[in-house]
Amino acid sequence: MSANFEPAASPPRQPSAERLLIVYRDRDLLVRSSGAAANLPAIDGSRELRLELDQEHYLGRLDGVDCFASHVPEDVEPPDDHEFRGLRALWTRLPEDQFWLAGRGYQIVEWDRTHRYCGRCGEPTENALPERAKRCSSCGLSSFPRLSPAVIVCITRGNEILLAQGTRFPGAFYSVLAGFVEPGESLEETVAREVKEEVGIDVDKIRYFGSQPWPFPHSLMIGFSAEHAGGELALDPEEIADANWYTRDTLPELPPRLSIARTLIDAYVEGSLGSR
Ligand SMILES: [Zn+2]
Repeated sequence: MSANFEPAASPPRQPSAERLLIVYRDRDLLVRSSGAAANLPAIDGSRELRLELDQEHYLGRLDGVDCFASHVPEDVEPPDDHEFRGLRALWTRLPEDQFWLAGRGYQIVEWDRTHRYCGRCGEPTENALPERAKRCSSCGLSSFPRLSPAVIVCITRGNEILLAQGTRFPGAFYSVLAGFVEPGESLEETVAREVKEEVGIDVDKIRYFGSQPWPFPHSLMIGFSAEHAGGELALDPEEIADANWYTRDTLPELPPRLSIARTLIDAYVEGSLGSR
């Protein structure tokens, strides 16, 4: 996320004249389109969207502009010059800051929509501002926006990289391995377990690389590098359609830029994987 973004759960006393709106209709985001590019709708007193929004959630301030997230019922049509599109499809069309902000907004709006009643006693919940939390008015149970941490790991063997095609990938590309953290595991244990389960090998020298929010629907990707320590490839056919060791000169089709998967692979290609 941009250094020009200041996150907050409550709006400031002095609101900005312009507001940036993140409006979802189920999983689709409202954008103002101009040719191939798209932007989040920005409104002020002279430009209204004329949409009846559900509760608005303050996200923070991007480049001095207050940002709010909300949603509309599924039968709402977009205003003129606007469209509803899935966030993934907007990856290259939205400015990068707006893309990540929209991902943040999606997770807050989804959490709000799915936590209006207490999961323990069924009574209505209330927003517990200034915390980003909901509290049950009856039994006091608090709930927070859900995050599902997942590891993503770039495995090397000498000058080779292991790349795999998952059975559920949205394209024909090859990527590094990833998997969700289970309760009770350290991140390093998740890396070792996922690699063993998916491709049958052992790894060591597991090192933290970096992380990326992944709002599809509420993951946090935590990146690692690791080295092959033993074993031959033995693929789990439920998860992995194909996997091979590649060199820099023989790389297959790769995942899109911006993803941490691609950042890991690019670091391998540049020879900077272990030095970050
Ligand atoms: Zn309750």
